[in-house]
Amino acid sequence: MANITFIGLGNMGLPMAKNLIKAGHTVYGFDLSEEQMNQFIAAGGNKEENIPSALKKSDTAITMLPSGKHVKTIYMGDDGIIKNADNNLLLIDSSTIDVETSREVEKDANENNLKMLDAPVSGGVTGAEAGTLTFMVGGDTDAFNKAKEFLDIMGGNVIHAGQAGNGQVAKIANNMLLAISMIGTSEAFNLAKNLGLDASTFFDIASTASGQCWSMTSYCPVPGPVPTSPANNDYKPGFSAALMLKDLRLSQEASSFSNSRTPLGEKATAIYEEMEKNGTDNLDFSGVIKLLNEEL
Ligand code: NAD
Repeated sequence: MANITFIGLGNMGLPMAKNLIKAGHTVYGFDLSEEQMNQFIAAGGNKEENIPSALKKSDTAITMLPSGKHVKTIYMGDDGIIKNADNNLLLIDSSTIDVETSREVEKDANENNLKMLDAPVSGGVTGAEAGTLTFMVGGDTDAFNKAKEFLDIMGGNVIHAGQAGNGQVAKIANNMLLAISMIGTSEAFNLAKNLGLDASTFFDIASTASGQCWSMTSYCPVPGPVPTSPANNDYKPGFSAALMLKDLRLSQEASSFSNSRTPLGEKATAIYEEMEKNGTDNLDFSGVIKLLNEEL
């Protein structure tokens, strides 16, 4: 069984760390929040005094942090991982962050003879609890093969996406597409309704016609056709509009520095910014149908 340092025990990190503990690994945890630390300890996690002392006991370090700024500090700061790790420590960052920072941190790790992977996830808190997350992984193949043992415990689908940063590329490109398809699906339902076609009949037709997509058949933004979709639960997340906006902004930064034209990604970002401005971004991202129907 392995010794693992886990930094960032929030909504996602805590259930992920718990699954590693349940599988029999020894996990040393860090979080700035006392409440999260207490829950981690109650689940069988170990508290260490500081990052350097935990790293000395570990073979692997996993991070699950809010943004690129946090990741840079935790990895590249004086008390951080890179300066305090020995060469055999495997580094896995599962945070969703910008591609540039991800590649910068991974380059610094490599220059210090450390193997590092970016391994962002999709599947949300329920996927983290159930151990069914999808991991999109960028970085060295040997490091990926070593990490897979742990990622398989926390995830149901673990995919190597190629060079460093490619996990982040996959994550933001996928979520940009998801936002665009959710907005398109919502517009179609609103248009059909306003022209006198009820939602369930439209669903029966479009879900087996060329308009079919995941936003319609797995996560339908109108109540009724897909019983598990957040539309049936007052648009409680699920995946909040705020988190979708975070990923859309990352996609637009990446579009700029890679000179990629993403006009629909830009428009989708502006639409989710309206939910942020009017304070409804705590709703599930499928709640955008209400914004488009002028109900928010
Ligand atoms: P969260 O805010 O619940 O958790 C982040 C944790 O990091 C917090 O507990 C915070 O105290 C801790 N933290 C911040 N700075 C720290 C530091 N310097 N040292 C130690 N701990 C520190 O966020 P989350 O929902 O768990 O998301 C984490 C990452 O996962 C984000 O990058 C997010 O975009 C991504 N993500 C979230 C979801 C989701 O549904 N919540 C889904 C997919 C991906």
